[in-house]
Amino acid sequence: MTATTLSVRLLDNYVAGQWTPASGTDELDVTNPATGEVLARVPMSASSDVDAAVAAARAALPEWRKVSVIARARKLFELREGLEARKEELARSVTTEMGKTIVDARAEVARMIEMVEAATAVPTTMQGRIIEDVSTNVDAETVRQPVGVCAAIVPFNFPAMVPYWFLPFAIACGNTFVLKPSEQVPLTQQIAFDVLDGLDLPPGVVNLVNGGREVVESILDHPGIDAISFVGSAPVARIVYERAAKAGKRVQALGGAKNHMVVMPDAVLDKTVDGLIASGFGAAGQRCMAGSVVVTVGDAHDKLMPALREATEQLRVGDGLQDGIDVGPVVSSAARDRIREWIDRGVSEGATLAVDGREPEGELPGDGSYVAPTILDDVKPEMAVAQEEIFGPVLSVINVATLDEAIEVINSSRFGNGVSIFTESGASVRRFRHEVEVGMVGVNIGVAAPVAFFPFSGWKDSFLGDLHAHGPDAVEFYTRKKTVTSRWFSSGQGSGAYFVEK
Ligand code: NAD
Repeated sequence: MTATTLSVRLLDNYVAGQWTPASGTDELDVTNPATGEVLARVPMSASSDVDAAVAAARAALPEWRKVSVIARARKLFELREGLEARKEELARSVTTEMGKTIVDARAEVARMIEMVEAATAVPTTMQGRIIEDVSTNVDAETVRQPVGVCAAIVPFNFPAMVPYWFLPFAIACGNTFVLKPSEQVPLTQQIAFDVLDGLDLPPGVVNLVNGGREVVESILDHPGIDAISFVGSAPVARIVYERAAKAGKRVQALGGAKNHMVVMPDAVLDKTVDGLIASGFGAAGQRCMAGSVVVTVGDAHDKLMPALREATEQLRVGDGLQDGIDVGPVVSSAARDRIREWIDRGVSEGATLAVDGREPEGELPGDGSYVAPTILDDVKPEMAVAQEEIFGPVLSVINVATLDEAIEVINSSRFGNGVSIFTESGASVRRFRHEVEVGMVGVNIGVAAPVAFFPFSGWKDSFLGDLHAHGPDAVEFYTRKKTVTSRWFSSGQGSGAYFVEK
């Protein structure tokens, strides 16, 4: 513990409608990756803290599911207004703890709020279906009911938005909720839970438990939790998926990615460069939808590279809160060191270092975690830098002769999150979208992350489960169907309590 850390606040959990100290004894520093400043300390909660949150969520369930679906939707309108009123504070918190630029953080918070807006449609989206006379006088109907206590375990790269892929949809459907934020970026959800605290929800509807692996394992094994959503790296996604499924829970686990961007010879050059730069280097490459491999087809390579190199070298690296910064720091010094090692590895595998960002130039805060945008050219599909997720501002460029070869490179990846194609040819696009084994496709768009009203539909090792996050899948995930087949024997003329006998 350093002298600075003694004076910073220790974060609380939020359980049963109260800010509550964690009972775990370990704590970690939360640092601003732009400066190295310690912002707060986060408790590593114990399994007893998870027990308390789950007990509160279970206790709140009967009352919350009886609140009318319209009243639940109205709470989401209030939540939307509460977040909107504090959106700049939320965005500054995202930048301060995670590092992405303030412009990018504002966009993240806007998408967070959009999730709440999508969830307000619950009186329509949660409707069941009915048909009369499946047999004479016999009706069949399916209603949707909440699943129960739902939990979400989330990564560091979207401290505001990713928790909202789940929380608004879960509570809209009448579930109660436990959130475990990333221990690297727990501050933004302190603000969001302060907004939730002001909504006068029944205590226990939403709960926040800070911590790391021990909290996750308690959630996975907890008999009081019915459904789990996970977003994070592929190895942990697999652990979560297998362990939660073994415990009989409903589970969706969104994992890592290696996203390709195909550039055809007829692509509009300047727009393509803009798209590649935004995709590869936005959020310093720390997006699960970041493009990390550029696949140039035919002479697209030689047309593209000078412009791509020049635009990359012009990007300004620095503290994301400052004006004019294009690329902020990566999340931690450990991440910075790991990314530099990946660049070294690419070079040792035979790639050409077209732009070297290992030692960023210019005035940067001494304790910040900076890696400047980097381009590895002449990469071959079998190299590790072409196959594994680097999760930093590094673009690998592979040149192939045909669209067929480009599709083969993409389909041989074990991941299948996002992909983009840059071309003016409708026929190439038609082939591409039909044949790529990837769940989210961009056409002349670098980061094809779906809006809240569509599912976030990764494939292969990027997603384990069947129901995706947000969009129509959210209501499917957060409800269970009950089917009632019914027959009535009386005539319906006055036998019920609502009729006065004459
Ligand atoms: P991570 O897997 O290290 O952590 C994610 C969560 O799991 C955190 O809350 C963490 O506390 C917990 N965790 C970490 N190790 C654990 C373990 N051994 N056992 C149990 N729990 C553990 O991921 P990260 O570094 O925070 O986030 C970056 C990763 O998330 C990248 O791989 C990125 O592609 C992925 N991601 C995927 C999507 C998607 O939609 N597919 C979205 C965002 C991020």
